[in-house]
Amino acid sequence: MAPVYAPAPVIPVRAQGSRVWDEEGRDYVDLTSGIAVCALGHAHPALVETLSRQAEQLWHVSNVFTNIPALKLALRLTEATFAENAFFANSGAEANEAALKLARRVAIDRFGTEARKTRIISFEQSFHGRTLFTVSVGGQQKYSDGFGPLPGDISHIRFNDIDAALAAIDDRTCAVIVEPVQGEGGVIPATADFLRCLRDACTRHNALLIFDEVQTGIGRTGSLFAYMDAGVTPDILTAAKALGNGFPIGAVLTTAEIGKHFSVGTHGSTYGGNPLATAVADRVVELINTPHVLDGVRERSAHIFASLRSINSRTGVFRELRGAGLLIGAELSDAYHGRSKDIMTAALEHGVMILNAGPNVLRFAPALNIPYECLDEGLARLERAIDSFRSD
Ligand SMILES: *Cc1c(COP(=O)(O)O)cnc(C)c1O
Repeated sequence: MAPVYAPAPVIPVRAQGSRVWDEEGRDYVDLTSGIAVCALGHAHPALVETLSRQAEQLWHVSNVFTNIPALKLALRLTEATFAENAFFANSGAEANEAALKLARRVAIDRFGTEARKTRIISFEQSFHGRTLFTVSVGGQQKYSDGFGPLPGDISHIRFNDIDAALAAIDDRTCAVIVEPVQGEGGVIPATADFLRCLRDACTRHNALLIFDEVQTGIGRTGSLFAYMDAGVTPDILTAAKALGNGFPIGAVLTTAEIGKHFSVGTHGSTYGGNPLATAVADRVVELINTPHVLDGVRERSAHIFASLRSINSRTGVFRELRGAGLLIGAELSDAYHGRSKDIMTAALEHGVMILNAGPNVLRFAPALNIPYECLDEGLARLERAIDSFRSD
């Protein structure tokens, strides 16, 4: 395999709910859900049933034909959100790639090429995927270094800096793309004022506001999408990760007015909207978009914050705890700066899977329905891991 990853020394072979087992039969509490993907836990019985039933009916027909699961999913997502139009891709990067292409196309259709309305504004530390366009738009240069020449007319400005945003957004801006909570960049929530300011500036300058909800979407923050809590409605929203609970799928949601610019032949995908992926995603959204699951996210969030505060009052390992719903970041205090990967490794040795978000932040993204006893077991293992890490 290409050496682009440095996988952990254990190999998971089986999982159920929020427990994972490795080749030796050792069990782990999963506080990562595969990087905010398996939001209903592993091997959820309803999803196994949906996938198996669809596998017996129809796997793939290509977009030369439409298919019933894709139509159902488009209907469910548009009924549940501001959107009136859906495009299906296979990943978060592809969804963002499509959203950015759409924004450029809308500006050219509406204002002509002479207006040079092509500027894309994004934010430092942001992450939008690994295609050439999305690494260029993303705000972490290490992902685009060495791949030039890169797509042009992209500006990166400081996240949560209203003055910088107001100075940057003008009539040449075609789109602003933002994560409501920066995930990979360190679990940093956008302030409500910042998002409102982006909305107003985009409206004033006829620019499209794109919310990248690949990590925050599908219930992770305690609402179906984070924009619903922020009180700011984007023009385009992208989703992926938890949408398929582990079956690859991405989606671009937008209004009919904007979506019509993706006219026949302007964009496409062989697999996008594949019946297996859309059947699973339709069931995922049906199961997650309920008061029971979404309230459960907020309750579990409060529970984890309380546990991390209590670990911190004894150990002092964290400088700040932040996030939204079940996307939680714990920034390490100065003495432990740069050590997030080492703590992840110690956690794994103690039977709990956690993530990092850069060298200074531990990231927790458990399944939205993780049982409390499993959650407490995971947090107890984490506490033991932190203790052993500190005494090393
Ligand atoms: C994970 C992620 C992506 C990329 O998704 P892939 O499915 O890996 O292509 C894009 N944006 C955000 C905010 C993400 O967290």
